Amino acid sequence: MGNDATAQANIGVVGLAVMGANLARNLAGREGNTVAVFNRSPERTRRLVDEHPEAGFVASEDLDAFVASLTVPRTAIIMVQAGAGTDAVIDQLADRFEAGDIIVDGGNANFQDTIRREHALRERGLNFVGAGISGGEEGALNGPSIMPGGSAEAYATLGPILESIAAVAEGEPCVTHVGTDGAGHFVKMIHNGIEYADMQLIGESYDLLRRVGGHDTDAIADVFAAWNDGDLESYLIEITAEVLRHRDAETGTPLVDLIVDEAGSKGTGVWTVQNAVGLGIPVGGIAEAVFARAVSSKPEQRAAVRGVVGARPELPEVGEDFEDDVRAALYASKVVAYAQGFDAIIAGAREYDWDIHLGDIAKIWRGGCIIRARFLNRIVEAYDRDTTPATLLEDPYFADVVARGDAAWRRIVAIAAQAGVPAPGFSSALAYYDALASERLPASLIQAQRDFFGAHTYRRVDRPGTFHTLWSADRSEVQED
Ligand code: NAP
Repeated sequence: MGNDATAQANIGVVGLAVMGANLARNLAGREGNTVAVFNRSPERTRRLVDEHPEAGFVASEDLDAFVASLTVPRTAIIMVQAGAGTDAVIDQLADRFEAGDIIVDGGNANFQDTIRREHALRERGLNFVGAGISGGEEGALNGPSIMPGGSAEAYATLGPILESIAAVAEGEPCVTHVGTDGAGHFVKMIHNGIEYADMQLIGESYDLLRRVGGHDTDAIADVFAAWNDGDLESYLIEITAEVLRHRDAETGTPLVDLIVDEAGSKGTGVWTVQNAVGLGIPVGGIAEAVFARAVSSKPEQRAAVRGVVGARPELPEVGEDFEDDVRAALYASKVVAYAQGFDAIIAGAREYDWDIHLGDIAKIWRGGCIIRARFLNRIVEAYDRDTTPATLLEDPYFADVVARGDAAWRRIVAIAAQAGVPAPGFSSALAYYDALASERLPASLIQAQRDFFGAHTYRRVDRPGTFHTLWSADRSEVQED
């Protein structure tokens, strides 16, 4: 491997573990790209270059040579471990890059880190782009969904390169300039949160079909495969059918029955919930999914309660419509989870001053990413009809989905409760919907309680102003403003 210092590569990749190596190969396979590659440990670089001579990589074993191999404006995508590793590589590149050059972080950074890094590098005249990349290693190689933030100036150079490697859905590349500084990583975080909710709802459907419907695993695989031919068509439904059909080679048992039922996570779901809570946005669907994984991962508590619990409830009889009811509950709950996720994007955009086009976000999630789904076309259409609805749930298409599924959704939540099968995603989505649909909520009582113990005041329905009742005195009411 030579350290050719002639500037010839229009794009570079730093970090050649699984994601970086696949992204570099994807870039190299597209017309017009010459790709420079660098990794801290040179063995990885050598292996990639040896295994993929067709890519014509410009490989370097030291960072100075890597930087020298890039044409101006220099553009490098960092695909290293999030956190300290990313900071270290950004610093090393920033010391070598010049004004107008572009550093892209394609890792799973926290958007707050991205905002901090973007501001720091902008002070030095450098462009920094935090780009959420979804689709795992397969997506990185064949076409991910890409959510870049950063400046419009940086996107002018970077955009065409990203468009060349992104997945294509309905003839359009799954990439858009999401907004400035941390907008891309923020939207990637929400994407992951929605992914949690989607997976949880699918899990609850599986559990109900299994424990209440009495279906065996193959039959449930068939149900998911059939659902994948309709409105629910999506990558996650498709792989669910495949996963359920897969049998352990040694025992012949469905593999899913041999997997320990404690779900892990890498933290983006938690970030979504933390940030949404901070922004005052109820994302119950995502939160319940995060909590459900946490509950599953408490084997001692689960064993303790199993040890003291009495007889489990008798399973209710279900009829032929049960599968259809579960499908309707799944779809309605999914609509709620997406509506909540988009609400969080709207609130983030307002808080951080990002000009985010919601329809464009739905568009770039239609291909390449984990939540890709036919359903996203309906969200694109909804935001075409009205760019600023109060909630996606008021869109005529989604209002109709929920109205048509309403009775089934309630039956399923009731059956789950009767049967003792946890369905926190379904039931919290229904409670959210019912709260929005209620004429009066008990929040009036909560306001009165808050005023009683903390003089927090309240507003009245019958006249303007802010009021306080002198609860510990004569209980007369005073107007505060
Ligand atoms: P990874 O295991 O997260 O990180 C390994 C890479 O980071 C190696 O190239 C390693 O270099 C490098 N590295 C770590 N610390 C470093 C430091 N201080 N200085 C320089 N290099 C350092 O790799 P990955 O799984 O390919 O993921 C890369 C990024 O993509 C991560 O941010 C990850 O969160 C994200 N990711 C995204 C998806 C997705 O679906 N979008 C999936 C997986 C990962 P050495 O070889 O020298 O150790």
